[in-house]
Amino acid sequence: MNWQKISIILPAYNEEPVIEKTTMILNDLIEEMVKDGLISVDSHILYVNDGSQDQTWALIQQLHEKFNRVQGIRFSRNFGHQNALIAGMEYVTGTDIDYAITIDADLQDDPHAIVEMVKQAQDGKNIVYGVRGDRTTDTAFKRWTAESFYKIMNWFGVQTIPNHADFRLIDQKVLAIFSEYTEREMFLRGIFPLIGMNEGQVFYSRAEREAGETKYPLSKMLQFAVSGITSFSVAPITFVRNTGIVMFIISCLATLYVFIGALLGHTSLGWPTIMLSVWALGGLQLVAIGIIGEYIGKIFMEVKHRPRYIVSEVIE
Ligand code: UDP
Ligand code: MG
Repeated sequence: MNWQKISIILPAYNEEPVIEKTTMILNDLIEEMVKDGLISVDSHILYVNDGSQDQTWALIQQLHEKFNRVQGIRFSRNFGHQNALIAGMEYVTGTDIDYAITIDADLQDDPHAIVEMVKQAQDGKNIVYGVRGDRTTDTAFKRWTAESFYKIMNWFGVQTIPNHADFRLIDQKVLAIFSEYTEREMFLRGIFPLIGMNEGQVFYSRAEREAGETKYPLSKMLQFAVSGITSFSVAPITFVRNTGIVMFIISCLATLYVFIGALLGHTSLGWPTIMLSVWALGGLQLVAIGIIGEYIGKIFMEVKHRPRYIVSEVIE
């Protein structure tokens, strides 16, 4: 018999259409696992309501009345997916919960993979990643953007687990280590592979969103990618420096060309050369300043050390 307690953490932003179904499925799953002697009956389902404008919070309250194991954290406003996950993890850190499992509220990640995750954790894994073996249900566009995202990340030296998002199990040991990562802007799927420890993977196929629509439009995805890269790597600054060096070498060669040409009495390339170099250099300089500015903005955000999220209500 195992008495490990699990807490399933779900960020929820305007998830009114699915939240009931999700809870039913997770509750059944927990009960099944309890029956099979895998986990303790005191396991929880923890929703983090990320400032939803619909009835999500009211539904969480109702679900708590119905199922004792449903808990809820309510943010005072929308603080974003990553912060909702962090709040859930911080909430269970140092408690008698043995494993925290984070999963999206829209049932796109197969909850049944949790069984295998728990088994691997009981075999000594500290982190178990949910990996999408098959993404055919996502649109071609979503797959392409996601693939490019991981490629670009790797290119900039940010190690991520391919096809793994934020569906993972972590044990109390990892939760404690994680609590020492205090940066404001978090990119969770880059942090956990850095922790190392004993890792496992569980494969599942990604389903379509049960109801409602994605809260990650293209603009948010791009922002997420930029923030992911700039919080893990200074490669863009190195890139700017290298471009500067190359430009300098080219300009030395061009000077030499013009100088020798003038001595021989024939270089007069006229205004197009000047225009083009002014534009090219001006553009490059703006890009360089932009990249550096991005990092300075980041430093500014980090030194302020504002709270990552504000909790207005908790249902235990
Ligand atoms: N989410 C959140 N805050 C946000 C955006 C999303 O808590 O500002 C939650 C959302 O409710 C869901 C999860 O994050 O549980 C993933 O979002 P979504 O399914 O919309 O993203 P996608 O699967 O389309 O990438
Ligand atoms: Mg989704």
